[in-house]
Amino acid sequence: MSVKKKLGIILFPAYDWEISKTHPERKERLLYTQDQILEEGLGDFENIVFYNPKIASEKALKRVHFIHSKLENIVTKSHLIAAGGAIKCLDLVMRKEVNKAFSITRPPGHHAMRVTYGDRGFCILNNEAIMIEAIRQKYGNLKVAIIDTDCHHGDGTENIYYNDPNTLFISLHQDGRTLYPGTGFLDDLGGPGAYGYNINIPLPPKTGEEGFLMVLEHLILPILADFEPDLIINSAGQDNHYSDPLTMMNFSAHGYAKLTDKLNPDVAVLEGGYSIEGALPYINLGIILALAGLDYSNVVEPDFESEKVSQSVEVTNYLKKLMEEIHYNWKNKEKLALKKFQNKSYITEEKNIYYDTSNIYEKQTITYKKCDYCSGLIKITSKNNRNDKILAITIPLDACRECEKEGENLYHNSAKGDYDNIYLQNRIKDQYLKR
Ligand SMILES: [Zn+2]
Ligand SMILES: [Zn+2]
Repeated sequence: MSVKKKLGIILFPAYDWEISKTHPERKERLLYTQDQILEEGLGDFENIVFYNPKIASEKALKRVHFIHSKLENIVTKSHLIAAGGAIKCLDLVMRKEVNKAFSITRPPGHHAMRVTYGDRGFCILNNEAIMIEAIRQKYGNLKVAIIDTDCHHGDGTENIYYNDPNTLFISLHQDGRTLYPGTGFLDDLGGPGAYGYNINIPLPPKTGEEGFLMVLEHLILPILADFEPDLIINSAGQDNHYSDPLTMMNFSAHGYAKLTDKLNPDVAVLEGGYSIEGALPYINLGIILALAGLDYSNVVEPDFESEKVSQSVEVTNYLKKLMEEIHYNWKNKEKLALKKFQNKSYITEEKNIYYDTSNIYEKQTITYKKCDYCSGLIKITSKNNRNDKILAITIPLDACRECEKEGENLYHNSAKGDYDNIYLQNRIKDQYLKR
């Protein structure tokens, strides 16, 4: 049996917020979970403590995002509470007030990228990134591993941390050829400053408990042991459940609990999950019990039938091959980076981004500076079909003096031309400028 741990929970259902009446991210999404928690009497356990969230500050958002409009025009109070709730969770852990924490809030965040114009895949603000950068500002540039167990590829988190060698991002998701947002493939290993530290694990439809736990034990845990993070964060999406209306997986509440137990994250942050009555109450219960070191063996959905969700041999064999390839990439990342970025000082990527909810098309050019002394400067030019045009520059937290200077010069001396605004994130000075 595992040892009991003190668990902090922030539960904020945001019942007054919704995207639209018919949207799957329904305003009652967390109410069944809330009932389940009450029914199970979790508040009576002495090692489980409920906390109130706080509201994220504008500065906390700017450490992560370039927001090219008035804040109140794109985000609601619920968004600020979801981000602020996550910050508070990690802060509780850092202050050692609790051993672990779980932020059960909505809206989710893992599709929100560095530039954010509006709602993409139900997300505007990246709650995990806002949380991590707030904590790094206070405690230094901690090594963090983010394991995203939502069924959709965490493309926003990938984008934000693509060039950060201090943040290992691992996304387990249903293969992008079969599900929104259509990304998250093996070759997307990171920018020149962090090649190999972005790990996508695209799972075939109908992957079950056996597959999830196999990938965790034989691939993710060994990689984490190599990386030796200070913190493990779980983007705890719950839409891999067999009853989820948007996806095609075969995972169960008990499987989620077991995964949480073995992954042993410091903080879990709720992401997606749209089977709000059949899955969420049981998965959340399982995650809570696992995090608190309590017995979760009785967590079973009323309609659970193991034969219906068992995994085929084909899926198992496919996963074994996939794991080999990913393991190879991890072990050989330095060699692969050398080959890919040899003789290049700047690496440029083009990106087309669609905001499904806000109906915005965005075109980005991202330029990574390859530097021998730091992870390097990042420059983004972005325009969209609403006629917004911006230049956005990020000086990363580990920037060397030369890259910091280059970033500041670029900000001050770039011709305004036809940009609406030029933005600078100077993470070293914790300074966020716009001209
Ligand atoms: Zn999802
Ligand atoms: Zn540098």
